[in-house]
Amino acid sequence: MITVIGSLNMDLVIQMADFPQQGETVLGQHFQTSPGGKGANQAIAAARLGSNVTMIGCVGDDRFGHTLRTVLEQEHIDTTSLLTTSESTGIANILVHHNDNRIIVVPGANYKLEPTHLDAVKDVITQSQMVILQLEIPMETTAHAIKLCKEANVPVLLNPAPAANFDMCWMDDITYLTPNEIECAQLFGNDFDQTLEKYPNKLIITLGRDGARYFDGEYPIHVPGYMTKAEDTTGAGDTFNGALAYALVEGQSLDEAVYFANIAASLAVEQVSAQGGMPTLSKVYARMA
Ligand code: ADP
Repeated sequence: MITVIGSLNMDLVIQMADFPQQGETVLGQHFQTSPGGKGANQAIAAARLGSNVTMIGCVGDDRFGHTLRTVLEQEHIDTTSLLTTSESTGIANILVHHNDNRIIVVPGANYKLEPTHLDAVKDVITQSQMVILQLEIPMETTAHAIKLCKEANVPVLLNPAPAANFDMCWMDDITYLTPNEIECAQLFGNDFDQTLEKYPNKLIITLGRDGARYFDGEYPIHVPGYMTKAEDTTGAGDTFNGALAYALVEGQSLDEAVYFANIAASLAVEQVSAQGGMPTLSKVYARMA
């Protein structure tokens, strides 16, 4: 069983021909609401591939919150550890222009997920085969999750987004860290080769369409991405992380798991909306064949 401890947002997605400049008003081409939040996205990515997933998070007692809970249930994700609070459900305002995006997140209820709630559902966490974390919840809750996992020997996959919420002292206690290039530069500086060597088989840097890199203890390993035409890269990293967790829990080697995650994420970027394009297992295998 995989447990995701993280955010749930309603994404308010606007497709546009050009991003507005400061002080400018532009017309968007298309608007849609779609369920998102890095936590929920990664939970769905893993569940759609066949993982048994539990989601720990917090939503508001409002229309968006009810919808987000229902969406997880439709994906067969266990929501019994999902809190409802009086704060409004988190939202993300996403501007999409070709395969580029600009995102504003209002965390709302996500910031009401407190360490005490993790204690209340401690059994779920300690019985997991892997816990997936991102950084859209309070830092003290992330720190507490890592501590509970360490005590129970549960592997932790941490996707450090937004990177500003990462504390370097967590590095020893997590199993995998999966920044994209921007997050990696923010956390460790621009010398990726040197940084990778410091964290063998732990640091996996995602490189957009170029795939991902890690260091296996002896050699730098570059696992190339699958070339495709990207429609919307929102949720690419989330699909990568959910798929990576799925594959590792299934017992795949890190090399196989990163290859699998690249393929899954390449399928996701072919469709608009974060969760919409997340593939099933058969779609990933069809592309691998
Ligand atoms: P994030 O979405 O977190 O910014 P990346 O942009 O590095 O992270 O993308 C994560 C993963 O998604 C990549 O490692 C790759 O597997 C896949 N991916 C992203 N963009 C593309 C693309 N244009 N074509 C194919 N795969 C992509």
